[in-house]
Amino acid sequence: MVDQFDYVIVGAGTAGSTLAARLAEGSGAKVCLLEAGPPDWNPFIHIPAGFMKTLTNSRVNWLYDSEPSKGTSGRRVHAPRGKTLGGSSSINGHIYNRGQRMDFDGWAQMGNRGWGYQDILPYFRRTERRIGNGDDTFRGRDGSLIVSDIEWHDPLCEAFMDGAVGLGIPRNPDYNGATQEGVGYFQRAIHKGRRVSAARAFLHPAKKATGRIDVRTNAHASGLILEGGRAKGVRYAKGGRGGTEVEVHASKEVILCGGTVNSPQLLQLSGIGEPEMLKSRGIDVVHALRGVGENLRDHYPVRLVGKVEGMRTVNERVRGLNLVGEVLKYAATRKGVLALSPTLVHCFWKSDEALDKGDLQLTFTPGSYKEGVQAQLDDFPGVTVAAWQQRPESTGYIRARSADPFEKPEIQPNYLAHEIDQRCLLGGVKLARRLLSTPELGTYVRQEHLPGPDVQTDDEVMDFARGIGTTAFHLMGTCRMGPETDPMSVVDDQLRVRGIQGLRVVDASIMPTMPSANTNASTLMIAEKAADMILNREAPEPVSL
Ligand SMILES: Cc1cc2nc3c(=O)[nH]c(=O)nc-3n(C[C@H](O)[C@H](O)[C@H](O)COP(=O)(O)OP(=O)(O)OC[C@H]3O[C@@H](n4cnc5c(N)ncnc54)[C@H](O)[C@@H]3O)c2cc1C
Repeated sequence: MVDQFDYVIVGAGTAGSTLAARLAEGSGAKVCLLEAGPPDWNPFIHIPAGFMKTLTNSRVNWLYDSEPSKGTSGRRVHAPRGKTLGGSSSINGHIYNRGQRMDFDGWAQMGNRGWGYQDILPYFRRTERRIGNGDDTFRGRDGSLIVSDIEWHDPLCEAFMDGAVGLGIPRNPDYNGATQEGVGYFQRAIHKGRRVSAARAFLHPAKKATGRIDVRTNAHASGLILEGGRAKGVRYAKGGRGGTEVEVHASKEVILCGGTVNSPQLLQLSGIGEPEMLKSRGIDVVHALRGVGENLRDHYPVRLVGKVEGMRTVNERVRGLNLVGEVLKYAATRKGVLALSPTLVHCFWKSDEALDKGDLQLTFTPGSYKEGVQAQLDDFPGVTVAAWQQRPESTGYIRARSADPFEKPEIQPNYLAHEIDQRCLLGGVKLARRLLSTPELGTYVRQEHLPGPDVQTDDEVMDFARGIGTTAFHLMGTCRMGPETDPMSVVDDQLRVRGIQGLRVVDASIMPTMPSANTNASTLMIAEKAADMILNREAPEPVSL
């Protein structure tokens, strides 16, 4: 007998965890939530510094790699994605960052009704429980996602911020408020020294409270059940590759929340996509939809490293006996280095003073990684300034390699393909260099280690950027939302898949353009808004600003 639900959701990540909770809480509906990964029991998920461990752990991470490209000097770049309850919110860097007003006004201007900043601000507020300062016009106080401030005020962070102020960049007490520009400490989804994933904030409490969410872990969705142009359900492999095939049916809707890589892949595997591409992979075409998998964008950070003298950095704090001390401190108080997110300070600014709004995100960490890649810490005391362009123009794609649902798809973000992106990043690296060499930070940073003195001309800087840049983990856009007149749109502004009944996509893949931010907050907002649409509830009044 096939199990029947009102809604079947594929993927218990940021969006899936939030949406499942809202659908079950907001109606008497029965929800089935399929998650390819295991439950979120791995302790490194919950310890903030465990980020370094989950980044390379195949049990909770899909461990994708992107395809080589000119923009990365022919390198593949690791593309981690969460594979457990909470999805990427269970392995991410905890940063809470919404973006700029114009990001969402831009979505509305593209023809997506109801997605302007004033429309979506109530949803940002609804998801959030802000602990700390902030204007309540912008900030939420009663939501489920706890957003807290960093308690650990390090002299190196303070010196970095003083240096930025010396360069004319103001301190901004709340970059998630009226304006983003400026320098300050990041706000994080961490509470009392533990990660606040979407599973922890939304899914687990709602499952317990309603008893109407059937969460099936190790359930890898392999295809949609489509009949007469309608999505009837989902087929999944219980236990993953080689597992028993199971079907679940949805009387109301099937909702894809598999994320930017997997949602388009599942559509393609189900015969929905660009016909020639599907045929070349041995997949029968069910419904031609050219945009599926296209419009992939990501942030491409470049990390600069300074060598420090006369001050301890994170590098020494987590080595040898110091680490033992930090572990004991964390066990006793949930404080110390293990309670920190990977980056502590933000700096939102412009690559060119002539610009009206910021186009750069920079971050500062009082620690450094070998070769500037988030993997192993340096053996010397170091600090990192990373820089990336906020709104990349370069677009790439996700493409299933074959009809095999377990084969990793092609991921090609085409980093730095667009001339604007190159110009902006060049400005970003130059600004990062200036920030690394301010008199204030110079009290401690005695030498630029990366890129180092041999890199001087613009061409040398760009070669360095192509050779060392990585992902900021913000893949988005592969099932883009757009009006009917946009031939590459995959979903409409109600997130319904074009041409198929009873099927929506609700995750970071629907973003038409990149918000000027890390992408978790806006994915939560998307899921929150989608719940209203699916339950036919009236949208809240737009906020007047
Ligand atoms: C390492 C890392 C660091 C990051 N740092 C930050 C940060 O500090 N701040 C920030 O704002 N953003 C950050 N991000 C980005 C942010 O976390 C993501 O944009 C966001 O989580 C995307 O949510 P989603 O719901 O679209 O996808 P996900 O959260 O990735 O969820 C997709 C879920 O679907 C499941 N799934 C996929 N395919 C199938 C299938 N076939 N069957 C069943 N289940 C399936 C996956 O296992 C996963 O659980 C980071 C991301 C990563 C990976």
